[in-house]
Amino acid sequence: MLRLGNIAGLCLLVMAAPMLHANVIQGVRTHEAPDYIRVVLDTSKASKYSIFELQNPHRIVIDVKGAKPSSSLSLNSTKELTHIKGLRGGRREDGYRIVVDAEVGFKPKAFTLTPIAPYGHRLVTDLYFPKKTAKPRFEQRPRPAPTTVTKGRDVMIAVDAGHGGEDPGALGPRKIQEKHVVLQIAQRTVNEIKKQKGFDAFLIRDGDYYLGHRKRTALARDKRADLFVSIHADAFKQASVSGASVYTLSDRGATSETAKWLAERENQSDMLGGVGNVSLDDKDPMLAQVLLDLSMNGNRSQSIQVGEAVLRNIGKVTKLHKKQVEQAAFLVLKSPDMPSILVETGFISNPGEAKKLAQASHQLKLSKAITSGITEFMRANPPPATWLAERREEIRYTIGRGDTISEIAVRYGVSSSALKKRNRLSSDRIRVGQTIYIPRG
Ligand SMILES: [Zn+2]
Repeated sequence: MLRLGNIAGLCLLVMAAPMLHANVIQGVRTHEAPDYIRVVLDTSKASKYSIFELQNPHRIVIDVKGAKPSSSLSLNSTKELTHIKGLRGGRREDGYRIVVDAEVGFKPKAFTLTPIAPYGHRLVTDLYFPKKTAKPRFEQRPRPAPTTVTKGRDVMIAVDAGHGGEDPGALGPRKIQEKHVVLQIAQRTVNEIKKQKGFDAFLIRDGDYYLGHRKRTALARDKRADLFVSIHADAFKQASVSGASVYTLSDRGATSETAKWLAERENQSDMLGGVGNVSLDDKDPMLAQVLLDLSMNGNRSQSIQVGEAVLRNIGKVTKLHKKQVEQAAFLVLKSPDMPSILVETGFISNPGEAKKLAQASHQLKLSKAITSGITEFMRANPPPATWLAERREEIRYTIGRGDTISEIAVRYGVSSSALKKRNRLSSDRIRVGQTIYIPRG
């Protein structure tokens, strides 16, 4: 039972002798993201802190109350950080002070994170670049609206490399980290897709920094991606498990034990990667859920179809873990706006497969296979107003689970009656796997 008297007494004791129970700063890490630099302090306890900025010259001061440095703490990073000259520290009467010497006026934003393996307590300070010095990597490229299009646009593919920054993802033998391997495969995949006429692609993260699940899909939406592909190379509790798999979102539980286990691991990313105050900056939560439920069904069958095409192609270059597309509740696939798939390129926990995943030649094979799957699907089901769609007289469409005549008609901007007439359908009845033709609108 808790008694107030005891708590008050404990607080007094802590305040009277702070150094006896000091918060030890054990280490510091930095990561550079497109719009901020992250400084992470590993601490032995939850930190009490204050942060302020100074000018002439620019500095950011992080005061950690009641803290002391561990004897091995080094603030000299060998990493080159944009507009940062260095970090230095000094003991103070009431704790420890870290000063970041900067070249520009960063805007700091700090928060603490509670322990999650392999990390203990963390104090995170994100130093946002001033507006004019921010690197314009994620600038929104306006796309013409369909009504004003004279020449069809490219099909746009968002390629997401899982994890990054504070979240290394799965760890393989000889210090192979999932976050590095998947970024390389993602980069190669973007290159391969861009080579295809009528296609364009971009990376969701293009460096070693973490992005929250919501941020990843928001970036894809900003660029009006037609498809979201998240690339991973995961670990399983048994090192013998190997092979590639493709996943789509499920809200009704996982299709297999591995799928469930992996989804749980992947969903921890936001905690490992250190997403501070997760806010629904895009939509009201109620509305977001409604949109999710409404548009999920149409995208779900498309996701499964594109997933099947990717799996079929990957199966030609590497062993498959499962021969069909699996489903699990992956948070990063929860985007109402576009079909989304997650490709596990192999198990980094399997020594043989980890070695292959790190090889350029194998990465290239995987990237080409992923590209073939995507382009096969898109050529058969081109999104409206794209060069691919306009090049064709009409679109061949394969009916997926949950598809209805009226919903397909709306999606392609034709009337239900025109759709039925073209396909000589006397009713709205269609079956999964059936091919229909969509006349030009
Ligand atoms: Zn992963």
